[in-house]
Amino acid sequence: MPRFSLTSLLSEAVNAHRGWGPQWRKPAPQRAYDVVVVGGGGHGLGTAYYLARKHGITNVAVLEKGWIGGGNSGRNTTIIRSNYLYDESAAIYEHALKMWENLSQTLQYNVMYSPRGVMMLAHTQHDLQIFKRHIYANRLNGIDNEWLTAEEARAVCPGLDISQGARYPVLGAALQRRGGTARHDAVVWGYARAADALGVDIIENCEVTGFLRHPGGAIAGVETTRGPIRARRVGVAAAGHTSVVMARAGLRLPLESFPLQALVSEPVKPVVPCVVMSNAVHAYLSQSDKGELVIGAGTDQYVSYSQQGGLHITSHTLDAICELFPQFRRMKMMRAWGGIVDVTPDRSPIIDRTSVEGLYVNCGWGTGGFKATPGSADLFAHLLATDAAHPISAPFTLDRFRTGRLIDEAAAAAVAH
Ligand SMILES: Cc1cc2nc3c(=O)[nH]c(=O)nc-3n(C[C@H](O)[C@H](O)[C@H](O)COP(=O)(O)OP(=O)(O)OC[C@H]3O[C@@H](n4cnc5c(N)ncnc54)[C@H](O)[C@@H]3O)c2cc1C
Repeated sequence: MPRFSLTSLLSEAVNAHRGWGPQWRKPAPQRAYDVVVVGGGGHGLGTAYYLARKHGITNVAVLEKGWIGGGNSGRNTTIIRSNYLYDESAAIYEHALKMWENLSQTLQYNVMYSPRGVMMLAHTQHDLQIFKRHIYANRLNGIDNEWLTAEEARAVCPGLDISQGARYPVLGAALQRRGGTARHDAVVWGYARAADALGVDIIENCEVTGFLRHPGGAIAGVETTRGPIRARRVGVAAAGHTSVVMARAGLRLPLESFPLQALVSEPVKPVVPCVVMSNAVHAYLSQSDKGELVIGAGTDQYVSYSQQGGLHITSHTLDAICELFPQFRRMKMMRAWGGIVDVTPDRSPIIDRTSVEGLYVNCGWGTGGFKATPGSADLFAHLLATDAAHPISAPFTLDRFRTGRLIDEAAAAAVAH
């Protein structure tokens, strides 16, 4: 792996950066691994990295049906925050947020984590009460979150229209200052490069099409488009396609897959210094380092595996953005795209064993799993390595949909980006 150092950067700078070479290998699949991870998004690659780095399990393959980062990891609006309502969610997202703070140093790769603050707007009395409840709950969990009046919100984000005649008047906002954004591709590439350096095989264009089983039913490996690969343990982190993959093992998961869209504007000079979210109107906005406004919408209302959502969803989002920031009305939108998000009934993830011995699953991150990437990967690696749940991931079981011990962030937040 090419090391990044002052000397290598200086010598490449004078060499027009022609000498870097590939950041990770492109190995052919071996016949057998200790662990196979299905899905080359941030969660899968991160899992492989922590298996190698923290647990010394380096005989690992990440199998990706397309290209790494081609799923939701490379399609999201990169919002990072940990101010969730319930103790279990606050713990898991805060675990991740703490890891974001040092991730560039850990991976020796700049993931461009930018704690610029995440501001959630309150438009109704109901919003106001809910956000204040969130703030108190967060503080009890040692998580920063503060209430801002409408004027204070505009001081943080000067373009915001707080006039009370607006269709969605801003009554105030909750601000998590440690929240922010990171560069999604860099997260994928950073994990890939670091995992590869520890001996993990990253195998692209390799779709898992079935499972190999021992006579007793336990997992013996996977069938893929590049042949069978044996493994002692298989961890699935396939986001919107998790239910499709798990069905091949005969399992039905409590998941629905929906298209979720994002879009970016033409680049402009810095105008939005933080992330602004409006759950009530399903609009999210930040500004990339290139200057583009990065805008997220809500999910389509129907289940689908199409990576294109309905035009009316983005058009509704843009209506809301123009209400909140009237000065953006004449901006042009440059690109829009969709991803397939895996949504559980309580909008909380699942990190658990399955009823098939040797088969583990990490899914259900839905519209909000980018922020969890380092934490989720760390906790899933722990489960795969030790066959025991880490205390932070222990509540996120499959069983909760049978017992009723839900972690109902759907009711708490309505939206979970
Ligand atoms: C438009 C949009 C905006 C979002 N905004 C945010 C946000 O602001 N903040 C936030 O926290 N989250 C956000 N999310 C959610 C976030 O992107 C996801 O929760 C997260 O990236 C999931 O990561 P992952 O690694 O689990 O999945 P992915 O990156 O989707 O990786 C799963 C991989 O599995 C592969 N795969 C599937 N089936 C197979 C198979 N059979 N064999 C081999 N490989 C397979 C896929 O090709 C894919 O690459 C957003 C999502 C979308 C779509």
